[in-house]
Formats: sequence, C-alpha cells, structure tokens
Amino acid sequence: NVSDAKERKVWFNGTMIPSGEATVPILTHSLQYGSGIFEGIRCYEGDGSSNIFRLKEHVARFLMTAKMYGLNLGYDAPEISRAIVETVKVNNLRSCYIRPFAFVDDDAISLGVGKKKVSTTVSVIPYDSIFGSKKSAGIRCKVSSWRRINSNILPIQAKASGNYINSIIAANEASATGFDEAILLSEGGYLAEGTGENIFIVKDGTILTPGKDSDILLGITRESIIDISRDLGYSVIERRLHRDELYTADEVFLAGTAAEVTPVVNVDGLVVGDGKVGRITSSISDMYYGIVTAKEKKYSKWLTPVK
Ligand code: PMP
Repeated sequence: NVSDAKERKVWFNGTMIPSGEATVPILTHSLQYGSGIFEGIRCYEGDGSSNIFRLKEHVARFLMTAKMYGLNLGYDAPEISRAIVETVKVNNLRSCYIRPFAFVDDDAISLGVGKKKVSTTVSVIPYDSIFGSKKSAGIRCKVSSWRRINSNILPIQAKASGNYINSIIAANEASATGFDEAILLSEGGYLAEGTGENIFIVKDGTILTPGKDSDILLGITRESIIDISRDLGYSVIERRLHRDELYTADEVFLAGTAAEVTPVVNVDGLVVGDGKVGRITSSISDMYYGIVTAKEKKYSKWLTPVK
C-alpha cells in the first residue's frame, strides 16, 4: 500500500531516507533530459536467505553506463554493492526488484553533464512479473514498426533513461494495437529484442538468439540462459535471425531481469508452435527459477546472500 511504499527506505548518497523524501526539483537535468542511469536487479528468497542474482555483473554494468554518459558517481563497485545489500536488508524484503539509479542532480538548462552534481540512489520494491498473470500461459507480441536504436545513435549497452524512449514508443504501439509486448528489429532488419528483454527462439531442438551484431543489449539473464541451456545439453547458436524465423519457430521466449523467462505464444497474430508453452522453454524456465531460489547449488556463485 502507498503509505508503506512511502515509508520504504531509499539509499540516497550514502544515507537511508524514507522514499517519500527521496524527491527532486522539477527542473532536474535527468528528469528533463533523460540523463539518469539505472540497473534492474532481482533478489529472491531461498535456502534460508535472500539472494541477489548476479550482483557483480549488474554493478559492473551500472558503472560502465555511468562512464559512457559522463556521470562521476564517486562510488566504486564494492561501495555500490554494499549500498544495494544494505537497502535490501533495511527494508526487510525477502524477494524484491532492486533499482539503483544515479542522476544529474542539477537544474541547469545546459545539456553537457560536465561537473554538474550527480546523486546516486538505490530503491527496492516488491515485484512479481512485468507481464503479470499473462506470463505463465505465454504472451502475444508484435514486431514493432520502430527499429531498435543502434550504436551510431547511442551506446546501446548502457542502461540510461534516455535510451528507453525507444522501448517506450515500441511498447506504446504494441499495447495500443492489443499486444502484450513489442519485438524490435535492428536497423539491418534482423531480430533484435523486446523492449526490456532479450529474445530466444527454438527450432528443431536448437536454441537460437541474436548476437552482438544485431544491436542488442547483451543482457545478464541472456548470458545466464545461454550457460544454463548448454548445461542442460541444448545447442545454442548466436547469430542474426530473420523475421520469418520468428514466425516459424517451434518455441519463442523472452529473458530479462524483470521478465525472467517469459514464453511467447503468438507473434503478429501467428501462433507459435502449438500455441502452448514449449517443452524446452519450460525446462529452461524451471532451471532458472531453481537457480535464483538457491536450489541448484552448482550456480550458487551467481548469488549474493543478504544476511
Ligand atoms: N534488453 C534491454 C533493452 C533491456 O533493457 C534489458 C533489461 N536490462 C534486457 C535486454 C535484459 O537484460 P538483463 O537480463 O541484464 O536484465
């Protein structure tokens, strides 16, 4: 409820404050221009603890994004990691979504970040799936009429607020036309990804996913899914994928921190496979949940316990 949400603690430049007090003036540079940077991380309950999934990789990407966009946070990776663990702990949430966010905390009208003040924050929220109740039976996607941004336009490995305007306009189009999610093509017309998830297809028992040359954000979940799939004995190929391969796939799924493993059962009105969640998708999804909830000891290196 709202009052609880307001009481939740936010780590703000080194101090814990109630989230209701974590506010900014309207002219804040990052609010006006999209110069904020963020991460999306999850924490799951399991094995008598709460465990943050792939914290190191997320913190490294956060600092890489800061560098690309010229934001000097003044905190190193261990300090950001400690802030994240501390925020989860102080809010007493066993499983949650974690949102580190840094922004240009200055009301100047000029664009360049230069020496403007930067503030760094960590928020946590209880969170189920980005696709809610639709997720388990699979979602319906639309190939967007918008193209995914490419690295001639913006640094596409960076998670900066402004980058997401591309995803927002594609998501708006998908929902306005009755779909759950958009799939964007690269500038070259190959499959790229969802608005905040990477895409995988299954054909004749082989798993295929676009690679770096398809202008994708190389997601941490994507990398994890590739490892898991190979461990499960599947062959995984990273290559450029044509739009028709999406329509004729046996199975399609999306993968990302917020989406976890989300099956796709329909694309542009065409039924994927038999229209049900596929066998390989299910096996990968089951393994993924086993790992994040600390049941699969082999992958415990991916978990940071919050004691
Ligand atoms: N693509 C985009 C555009 C994203 O925003 C995200 C979410 N960070 C992903 C893919 C998935 O990345 P990850 O698995 O690291 O969350």
